[in-house]
Amino acid sequence: MDSYVSRRGAPAWLAAALLMAGLALGPQALGAQQHRSTTTAGLETIQIRPNVHVIFGAGGNVTVHSGEDGLIVVDTGATDAADRLLQAIKAISPQPIRLIINTSADADHVGGNAVIGAAGVGISPDPFAAGGNNATVLAHENVLLRMSGASGSESPIPTRMWPNDTFTSRFRSMYVNDEALQVVRQTGAHSDSDVFVVFRKADVVVTGDIVDLRQFPVIDTAKGGTIQGELDGLNRLLTEFIIPNLPLVLKPGRTLVVPGHGYVADYGEIVEYRDMVTVVKDNVEELVKKGMTLQQVKAANPAKGYRGRYGRDTGPWTTDMFIEAIYNGLKKVGS
Ligand SMILES: [Zn+2]
Repeated sequence: MDSYVSRRGAPAWLAAALLMAGLALGPQALGAQQHRSTTTAGLETIQIRPNVHVIFGAGGNVTVHSGEDGLIVVDTGATDAADRLLQAIKAISPQPIRLIINTSADADHVGGNAVIGAAGVGISPDPFAAGGNNATVLAHENVLLRMSGASGSESPIPTRMWPNDTFTSRFRSMYVNDEALQVVRQTGAHSDSDVFVVFRKADVVVTGDIVDLRQFPVIDTAKGGTIQGELDGLNRLLTEFIIPNLPLVLKPGRTLVVPGHGYVADYGEIVEYRDMVTVVKDNVEELVKKGMTLQQVKAANPAKGYRGRYGRDTGPWTTDMFIEAIYNGLKKVGS
């Protein structure tokens, strides 16, 4: 299993801000430092707002918003963790699960759709529905195309896991749980199916795998991800959805960011992440301009300075794979 709760120390900017504010910072990350944490069925849940919880360890991070209409669940983790995830959701609130939103078609984000969906009731239930009224599953249309096998060669995923409500427009907005909820299209970054989920009133932004704080972002070029789309996505998060603090001190009300993987973050950390992606891309671009081959670019170590924090030499997403995705993306644009 991945280290889903990456309890690193505070970043330098945060430590500096805290020093200025006369506060001391422990070794725990933001979430654990400030928010109540519980463990159910081996999964850790932290409460980041009175009505927003994040569950770690089921695959991708899972965000749960509760309110008068029931529960909204963003992503459903991996299939083998679905039963435990359901227990963790029920431990947050006994209310019915009404709406599931998938941030991409990745197996560690849609894997629990069937189990979590079957435990819920759709947002507009049909009293005559033959197969019961499962929770509504909302996603970009490309999630459905990928899961049904209509795009790409992968084998189709069982229909009971598919989204039953899809969109292609820039936004899908709704008022639910006394909350302005916006699902924002940001396709072509990590994959062709990416969305952000913005809870405007709670001021929580769920990014999906466009932000993966454990490692360099996964640019899944086989599924429509691009380095430029990734940068556009990160910049859009910072200009449109994540609000910086003024003056530079920690405020309890600041925008909180739930990444696809890793700990709950805020503006400063996403700036750091965006800058990292920008620097590595610029470094690769310079080497490409010199006419270097992919092997030469990799050997020149363009991710230097960030390898220790985000790099992996083994596993499903290595530093070399990240460099290669950037290289191929730049070559494509240049040709
Ligand atoms: Zn993921």
